[in-house]
Amino acid sequence: MARYDLAVIGAGPGGYVAAIRAAQLGAQTVLIDKDELGGTCLNWGCIPTKAMIASAEAYKTIKEAADYGIIVEGEARVDMARVIERKDKIVSTLVKGVHSLIKSRGITYLQGHGRYASPSTIEVTKAEGGTETIEAAASIIATGSRPASLPAFPLDGETIISSDDAVQLRHLPSHMLIIGAGIIGCEFAFLYNEFGSRVTMVEMMDRALTFEDGETSQLIERELKKRKVTLHTGTTVEKVERREGGGVLATLKGGETIEADLVLVSVGRRINTDDLGLEAAGVDVDEEGRIAVNERMQASVDTIYAIGDVVGGPLLAHKASAEGIVAAENALGRNRVMNYDVVPAGIFTIPEVGTVGLTEEGAAERGLDYLVGRFPLRASGKAMCAGETVGQVKVIVDAETDQILGVHIVGNHAADLIHEAAAAMQAGMTATELGDLIHAHPTLAEAIMEAVHDVHDQAIHMPAKKKE
Ligand code: FAD
Repeated sequence: MARYDLAVIGAGPGGYVAAIRAAQLGAQTVLIDKDELGGTCLNWGCIPTKAMIASAEAYKTIKEAADYGIIVEGEARVDMARVIERKDKIVSTLVKGVHSLIKSRGITYLQGHGRYASPSTIEVTKAEGGTETIEAAASIIATGSRPASLPAFPLDGETIISSDDAVQLRHLPSHMLIIGAGIIGCEFAFLYNEFGSRVTMVEMMDRALTFEDGETSQLIERELKKRKVTLHTGTTVEKVERREGGGVLATLKGGETIEADLVLVSVGRRINTDDLGLEAAGVDVDEEGRIAVNERMQASVDTIYAIGDVVGGPLLAHKASAEGIVAAENALGRNRVMNYDVVPAGIFTIPEVGTVGLTEEGAAERGLDYLVGRFPLRASGKAMCAGETVGQVKVIVDAETDQILGVHIVGNHAADLIHEAAAAMQAGMTATELGDLIHAHPTLAEAIMEAVHDVHDQAIHMPAKKKE
């Protein structure tokens, strides 16, 4: 039986990063995945959607070219098969890149389904056939998640589809119904709407992007409305019937019906811990299947660690990678703890969202005494030049210490811009200190400087706030 210092099950952004870190530290490492390297992020999630959004944005630029003084003769049209081809090429290039990284670090890659036979033994049912049993002094579970479905109308991959299917559609639906207006639902809504599909959304909660700052939701809802995307909030889809001759008829809670070509079910993710032999390993999970871990990412068995979507929290690729590094180091005798104080995130709607730290609602719920600063992008010279004036930078600051508690940006490049705020928060800078940083002109980053100054009514390019 092959013996390793560390086995990693699951090669998504959590698992493959953990395996590379372990190999960098000199461990004999095996990485097991039943599917392709890169996991959900690379094959079905982050990268495919962003590749498709880039196509949608290219189309948008051409449609709006006349506003910039560029006359395009003839009509631009979307060729979905080519959009998907481009996406596939990007994915396969990146997957190959991960293969070569793994190889260069001397990591053994086993393609197959891993299951614990004991806390230190893993049985791999290989994709090529046969099984192989390996022994590992320590292991990391990084098996991620898969799309959740609704029992009343199971996914069929054709008319009732998941995000996995939506990144493979080679035709443009004329009307797409999206159940769930969370991050993934909203990204697909903008994407397909931009390509020319009519989009209707149904969200159980009272607003889109429920977990984001309320003003972010408002701005994104306004953009959806501008684009004629219909959003039904505070209701659910009770029934979906397939119609003879194609398409579906969905019935909402109050009886209202919606006809569409297909339904994209985007109601969250199911944790992949149900077929892992966790009982044999002695690893505890909660009722949702999440693995309970301590701050060192250690599960209920000392030699087993868990990272990424399987431990819950925000389901983000970079969170999984950061946890992977901490887990790998601890599994090899170091002593690292995970710190979730500063976890930036991007939402790739049109325009983007970048967010870090507390929302205003979160600050209020905690009873914090806070101040808010804002800067609208319509007042930014750079945003105006780019023709992207929708959005704002919003900063939430502790009223007493001037510490930055949260920053929420809606606007072009927000997911990149947010890192300035994240770095400032990580460094413990106050709003005034961040505002004192000289910002290059003309840039979108100036909007961050103005927003932090606005906290104290000191923004140069904002009118004086009215005295209460
Ligand atoms: P995963 O990436 O899910 O990888 C788990 C791997 O484990 C898979 O390869 C699977 O095949 C394998 N596996 C499972 N069970 C076994 C087993 N028993 N044996 C062997 N292998 C197994 N996050 C962002 O940060 N930014 C984004 O822009 C973003 N966009 C997204 C868009 C969509 C449409 C989706 C669905 C997700 C998106 N995410 C995004 C979320 C992100 O993809 C996940 O949070 C991230 O992939 C989780 O990483 P992971 O390593 O925990 O698991």
